[in-house]
Amino acid sequence: MPVRATKRGAERTPLDIDCDVLICGASFAGLTVARELAAATGPDGRRPDVVVVDRYEIGERQTSACAAPLPWLDAMGIADAVRQTFPTVEARTPRGRFSWRLPQPFATFDYRLLCELLAAQGDFRFETAKVDGRQAIDPADAHRPADDPADRDRITVLTDRGPIRAPLVVDALGWRRVLAPSDEAEIQPPDAFLSRGLEVHPSGTGDAFELFLDRRYAPSGYGWSFPAGDEVRVGVGSFDPHHHVKDPTLQLAADVGREPHGYQGNWIPHRLRPATGDGVFFVGDSAGHCLPLSAEGIRPALFFGLALGRELRMVVEGRQTREQALRRYAAVSARHEPAYTWLLRLQRSVGVIVPRERLARRVLSGLSRDGLAERAWGRYLRLMPATSV
Ligand SMILES: Cc1cc2nc3c(=O)[nH]c(=O)nc-3n(C[C@H](O)[C@H](O)[C@H](O)COP(=O)(O)OP(=O)(O)OC[C@H]3O[C@@H](n4cnc5c(N)ncnc54)[C@H](O)[C@@H]3O)c2cc1C
Repeated sequence: MPVRATKRGAERTPLDIDCDVLICGASFAGLTVARELAAATGPDGRRPDVVVVDRYEIGERQTSACAAPLPWLDAMGIADAVRQTFPTVEARTPRGRFSWRLPQPFATFDYRLLCELLAAQGDFRFETAKVDGRQAIDPADAHRPADDPADRDRITVLTDRGPIRAPLVVDALGWRRVLAPSDEAEIQPPDAFLSRGLEVHPSGTGDAFELFLDRRYAPSGYGWSFPAGDEVRVGVGSFDPHHHVKDPTLQLAADVGREPHGYQGNWIPHRLRPATGDGVFFVGDSAGHCLPLSAEGIRPALFFGLALGRELRMVVEGRQTREQALRRYAAVSARHEPAYTWLLRLQRSVGVIVPRERLARRVLSGLSRDGLAERAWGRYLRLMPATSV
């Protein structure tokens, strides 16, 4: 179990830490990386010192509707967080309603509990701290031999409580990609490859896992209503970041008879970004791993979190160098580029189809014929199968 050393507010103490692995971000991606390191042992028989930081307590700040394929939650040992499961998905347009059987059920889950279950499978120190960036390398020092050769590889991450140094640093901080190389162009919404999502989660119950393709909510995007036990998550995602989603979310909530309580939202990347840079590993939304078209980001965060955790484990166990891990992990992420490119193309077509109601109905009824939708879902789910766990 993680040890929580400090509290927030006045009880916060300064930090100055050296560790073996620093994981920044304690959500889906970061906690999965930590989970994979739990069984690692160094060549000297020592357990690696893994530190996880987040600006909030683990599981405190949900920004997602928290729906994911059930087999993934089962395989990761976190299915106790499931609140409701759905064998079918309903797609609704102003002119029709379509129901497709899913090749694998989807489940909605409790974010806090899921994070706690993931964290319990790790073995790390946890600190609440806001990550501000990494210490710039002074060009004069770059080629100077360090007293301790290990210092050459150590990256210093600056937090609002002080520095943390580690040779292996993971940015699982979400779309802001706080530890990006200094020469990388910043991605600033709304003029960036980002979608935007907002939802409310009022108390209530329901049976249907619903998607809404309706230009009143988002001309390029979709709305959703996902029941999760005693609450329903109703929201709108727009692939066009200029399209504001607050009023559409209120409209959708009113249309499905839900109160607009409990807002949560975020930007969602919809394009892959380099998975490594300046010695840092990026995973989850920080690497643009959220899938275009569906804006499904939890399964990819788990999938790439596992892949990265396994590479890092080989480093701490002395079975490969950090440079090898950087190359191998970057290659794993880049191998998925063709799938992301395809999904991005399909995502762009949403903005053409949704505003045309007759066309939307024709496309969805075409998909409903001969099991085409089920086959398409199957193919989509096989991109990152639960058997990867
Ligand atoms: C409204 C909405 C609904 C969504 N619904 C779904 C869904 O149902 N299913 C699905 O698969 N995907 C969904 N997504 C996408 C999904 O939430 C993300 O892709 C996923 O959360 C990415 O996981 P992550 O671990 O990479 O990043 P995040 O979950 O964003 O976690 C980043 C972590 O870093 C911390 N952090 C950020 N900045 C700092 C900092 N400077 N210092 C310290 N800590 C910091 C945050 O507190 C957070 O804990 C949704 C997105 C939105 C916006």
